[in-house]
Amino acid sequence: MRCLIKNGYLHQFNATKSSFIRGNLIINDDYIEELSGWCPPEQSFDKVIDATDCLIIPGLINAHIHTHCHFVKGLFDNLPLEMWMLYTKPYFTGRVETPDDVYIKALFSCIEILKTGTTMIIDDLVHCPTFSPQHYSMIMKAYKKAGLRADVSVNIINKPAYETIPYLDELMNDNLKTRLRAGAMPPEREILQYLEGLIRQYNVPDAVQRCVLAPSGPQRCTVPLMKGMRDLAEKYHLPVVSHVLETRVQKETGQLFFGKSLVEWMNENDLLYPNLLAIHSVWVTDEDIQLMKQSGCKTVHNPASNLKLGSGIAPVGRLLREGITVGLGTDNTSCSDSLNMFESLKLSALLQKIQTPDYENWIGAQEAIRMATYNGAECACMQNKIGSIQVGQKADIVIIDTNNERFLPANNYVNQLVFCENGQSVRDVIINGRIVVENKKIVTFNEAEVIEEFKRVMNRMKKQQELAGKEAAEVDNLYREAYYKTIRHGDHKSSSV
Ligand SMILES: [Zn+2]
Repeated sequence: MRCLIKNGYLHQFNATKSSFIRGNLIINDDYIEELSGWCPPEQSFDKVIDATDCLIIPGLINAHIHTHCHFVKGLFDNLPLEMWMLYTKPYFTGRVETPDDVYIKALFSCIEILKTGTTMIIDDLVHCPTFSPQHYSMIMKAYKKAGLRADVSVNIINKPAYETIPYLDELMNDNLKTRLRAGAMPPEREILQYLEGLIRQYNVPDAVQRCVLAPSGPQRCTVPLMKGMRDLAEKYHLPVVSHVLETRVQKETGQLFFGKSLVEWMNENDLLYPNLLAIHSVWVTDEDIQLMKQSGCKTVHNPASNLKLGSGIAPVGRLLREGITVGLGTDNTSCSDSLNMFESLKLSALLQKIQTPDYENWIGAQEAIRMATYNGAECACMQNKIGSIQVGQKADIVIIDTNNERFLPANNYVNQLVFCENGQSVRDVIINGRIVVENKKIVTFNEAEVIEEFKRVMNRMKKQQELAGKEAAEVDNLYREAYYKTIRHGDHKSSSV
């Protein structure tokens, strides 16, 4: 199918800067065939989209998201990561979901994702049970139905919880530890075989939905597991999602567990490499940044999540200046409570300004747009295919209507896209050449039916959340004590310097 998008403002990167030029765009099947200043005759096309007064931008890439927490969206506030994680699912027994539950949850997530102009996600999933191919296949089926480009990982933690947070091991009694070990992971070899099986099954050439890898974090996984995932990533050219130095507690964790920063420890264990997405990197030191730079690893900034969990502000300006690729994400559905990338765009362009008075080096709208598009594609190892509007690239395109209060007066489209827009001006969304949102309506599935089904499943899930609250209450005081003790360790260290 050939489609003409006529008379819009095409987004272009000149070096790293964004700009818009008036023009027309031709899609041939799944790729961008031509960009032109003159409008070709309409009768030679199967479809013509009038983009008068519209911006034509590369689809936004949400480079870090966990859609699995959609059942608990909006439930929490004023909890740091270590306490929040405790409450997101039943601590000892785990969440119980059917394949149909995870299907509707994934499809429900697509409503906000697609309608706010995101064309690709790197979704790090804790689906339950973790190693069920049926559950995984239903998530992939949902994204295929929606038409969403998605890299989907299975989040793996193969150490018991009391070995992942300082002081928990000594605070927990044997009875609690035994109950936790009941849900122990299989040996590393079996986990890696399972993941490679998924990769072989789903990652066919030009797949729109792919399996990628996710050792949850360096303190949560064994070294053989992380090395095995690194080897798989290099063999199949895939990104690896791992949470690194996200919180104050994790900053101290490296010192308390290994006597050094987690990034230094990863470097010594050969666990920093180009395909790694060291998600967050909030508490990296100057030395850590140099190690990241030398290794070629990347990171993803999640400003809303970092603010809501009180994690801190990532040094995005310093990371970008050192040439480290920084993508942009929304993170978990229940720790930023939004899958709308326009929130991340605006927050990322605002937050860095309070880091330094050196305003000539502030991060702003230009950098935010690049993080949410081209850099996101680099995070997915797909910068040759998506992330910019160029001939030969896959047609992942968003059309934004500027005839509204957010874009009038039209003073500066780049700034207004980041500081004024909130996702409501997204009119059409095209992914891999397929129209998925047209005139603000999802056309790949019935939105109203999905919402009704989601509400029905939610009624059942509320019982799971009651159980989660009950099980978390058994260990809440231990987690709180471990949390404050670890924070005090950091305070003590900095006051004694
Ligand atoms: Zn995350």
